[in-house]
Amino acid sequence: MIIRLKKDASQKLAKLVIAKIRSFGLTADVSMGKTGIEIIGVLGDTKAIPLSTFSELEGVEDVIRVSREFKLVSREYHPRTRVIRIGDKKLGEKAPVVIAGPCSVEDEQTTLKIAAAVKKAGADAFRGGAYKPRTSPYSYQGPGKKGLEILDLCRKRTGLPIVTEATGTHRHQCPDNSFEKRTVLENVADYADVVQIGTRNMKSYGLLLEVVNRTRKSKTPILLKRGEAATIKEFLLAAEYMVANGNPNVILCLRGIRTFESTKYQRYTSDIAAIQVLKQESNLPVLFDPSHSTGKRGLVEAVALAAVAAGADGLLIECHTTPANALSDGQECVTPKELAQIIRKAAKVKKIVNEL
Ligand code: PEP
Ligand code: MN
Repeated sequence: MIIRLKKDASQKLAKLVIAKIRSFGLTADVSMGKTGIEIIGVLGDTKAIPLSTFSELEGVEDVIRVSREFKLVSREYHPRTRVIRIGDKKLGEKAPVVIAGPCSVEDEQTTLKIAAAVKKAGADAFRGGAYKPRTSPYSYQGPGKKGLEILDLCRKRTGLPIVTEATGTHRHQCPDNSFEKRTVLENVADYADVVQIGTRNMKSYGLLLEVVNRTRKSKTPILLKRGEAATIKEFLLAAEYMVANGNPNVILCLRGIRTFESTKYQRYTSDIAAIQVLKQESNLPVLFDPSHSTGKRGLVEAVALAAVAAGADGLLIECHTTPANALSDGQECVTPKELAQIIRKAAKVKKIVNEL
C-alpha cells in the first residue's frame, strides 16, 4: 500500500500516518520529496486494512494498493527514477554513466595502466574483478584480496570509484591452495564503492541478503546483473529482496540472456527491449553491459549506442590496453581509444534522445 501526501501536508500528519501503520504491526517506508515526506509505503500484509484508514485523513492525497509482486522497486510505488550516486556522478539522471575496466584485475602495473587509460577515455568508474566467477574450475579465478588492494591503488591514482564483484560468502582459495582469512564478501565490502552481484548469483538469495546486511549502514550501491536465464519478474524480485531488506541503492544491469543463438556470432542475446520494460516497470536505474551480452569487440559500440537510445541510464564496458593479453574476456574488451569513442557517441545519443 502507498500513501501519497499532499504537497502542503504537515509533519504532524506524516507522524500520525506512520504511527497508524506501526499500530497494525506493519513497517512504514518513507520517501522524501522536495518539501518533506512525500510518499509513505506500507510494508507487510495490508490486505485486511481498508484504504479509508488513511484516505480519509486530512492532507492525504491518495492511497493505492500496489498490485505488482515487486513493490518497492516498482514505478507504481515511486514514479521518479531513484538516482544513485557513484563517486561524484549521478546514475539515473540525464547524462549516461559509464563504468569500465578489465574483466579481472591483473598485475599492479597493468591494472594501473588500464585505470589511467579508462579515466582518460572519460569513464566515470573503474571496474575489475578481484574475484571472478568462472564457468570452468581451471580458468583464472582472479587475484583475490591482492586484487582489491590494486583496485584501491587505482582509485587513489585516478580518483575513480571502484566497482567489483562479490562472488559469495566463502573464503577464496589461493593458487597455493591456502584460504584467505576473511570471506570474499567481507573483503569486497571493505573496498568497493559499488558491489557487483554477477549473473550466476542473481538467485543466490542468501548472498543477496548478506550483501544487504553488510551495506545496510553505508548504503553502498549494489549492481545486480540479470541472471542469464532469469525472467524480468525474477530479476525485479531479486532487486526487491535487497531494497526490502534495507539497501535501496540497487542498480539493475542487463548483460544479455541465453537463447538458441550460437556463440560463434554472439555470446548471449542483447535484451535491448528489456531496458524499456525495466524503465517502465521499475524506479531503479538501468545499466546495460554490451561486452558480456555480445562477447565480441566488434559488436560492443553498436549495442552500447542502441542501449542508450533505448533508455539505458549507463553502460558497463570491458576495456583493456592490450585485449589480446587480457587474463579473461579479452575477445570482448575494447581498447581505451574505442572506449573514448563510445563514451563520446553515447553522450551524443543520450542528448538527442532527451531532446526528442
Ligand atoms: C563480469 O561482469 O565480469 C561477469 C563475470 O559478468 P556476468 O556476471 O554478467 O557473467
Ligand atoms: Mn568479464
